[in-house]
Amino acid sequence: MMTPQPEYIDGNGFIAEVIRTPRIKSADVRVEDGAVSIVVPKSLDCARISKILVDKRQWIKSKIALHRDTSPVSAKDYVSGESFPYLGRNYRLKVHRGHFKPVKLLQGRLVVTVPNGSEQPDMIRNALVRWYKHHAEMKLQEKTNRYASIIGEEPTAMGIKSFKSRWGSCSAKGKIDFNWKIILAPNSIVDYVVVHELCHLIHHDHSPLFWKQVEKVVPDYLACKEWLKVNANLLSL
Ligand SMILES: [Zn+2]
Repeated sequence: MMTPQPEYIDGNGFIAEVIRTPRIKSADVRVEDGAVSIVVPKSLDCARISKILVDKRQWIKSKIALHRDTSPVSAKDYVSGESFPYLGRNYRLKVHRGHFKPVKLLQGRLVVTVPNGSEQPDMIRNALVRWYKHHAEMKLQEKTNRYASIIGEEPTAMGIKSFKSRWGSCSAKGKIDFNWKIILAPNSIVDYVVVHELCHLIHHDHSPLFWKQVEKVVPDYLACKEWLKVNANLLSL
């Protein structure tokens, strides 16, 4: 199935992702993790979308500022040459100036194009977050499918979230959610987190039986747990 190319609008100080859906009648602006998106009816034209963003500008800017003020200070400057981990490998960032273009992995580099202005670091960070979330969804779905067949339990649904202090969760109804930031970790660690949550479909606790189940699939799970404890602070953008 082809997924439509994402569409972006420069909101003058922020970049909004446009999500078109036949399911709604009026536009809905969201600011999640400091990133702006606007959900609109399928055929709404760009001029109309821009107008909505202008009307909501104050509200959007205050949401972005709130996110910035409540987030831990990033160690990153979001400039060319900085490296960002993805599945345990480091990729260098390459920033171009110009009309916004989302992050792409090209020849081992994370390439992004953003307009000039003081909001550049925010825009670059948001573009990276979108790239990571998108890849998290694909990779975690893939790994969930693979390990679900090994363990013999299927989750009722799978999603990604922005958890503050956990890597995954499994609800009583069998829905599994993962923290998208886990894909900054090496593959073996991501696999452990996937197996951990899937094993909760069998044991909804951290009992010795639960850990036995995890160990069957990930024999070195203790080392993975330890790695996560020690390196958690590296898994951020
Ligand atoms: Zn658990």
